[in-house]
Amino acid sequence: MSAISGSCLCGAIRYTCTAPAVMVAACHCTHCQKQSGSAFSVNVAIPKGSLQFTAGEPRRYEDRGTSGLPVYRHFCGDCGSPLFSDVVATPQLDWLKAGTLDDTSWVKPGANLWCESAQRWVVFAEGSARFAQNPPVA
Ligand SMILES: [Zn+2]
Ligand SMILES: [Zn+2]
Repeated sequence: MSAISGSCLCGAIRYTCTAPAVMVAACHCTHCQKQSGSAFSVNVAIPKGSLQFTAGEPRRYEDRGTSGLPVYRHFCGDCGSPLFSDVVATPQLDWLKAGTLDDTSWVKPGANLWCESAQRWVVFAEGSARFAQNPPVA
């Protein structure tokens, strides 16, 4: 797997990740649909603290998860691209938005979260796990 790097749409914000990805999950929750303006988010889990910004600083929107804990959604204040989420309920991981990667060739969701709110036309990646909501905490 190549080193992880990426940017927002306008390029004001660029990042690299100092650690390999832990997993890839598609999230079909209604908040990810709203934020992405799409059917779901493709999120790359990375060790928390491994993301480094080499240009710009994202803005932050404080969302709230079903756990009741904050979900800090970071995005470009200029072009609006969602970049990553700091989910307080997953203290070991940050969730990078796969569509902002420079190289997405290796990305394939291994799990689908919040399938109960998935849009009806969605076809799940072959062999990927499906969870009605969040997966049980490992
Ligand atoms: Zn931007
Ligand atoms: Zn979600």
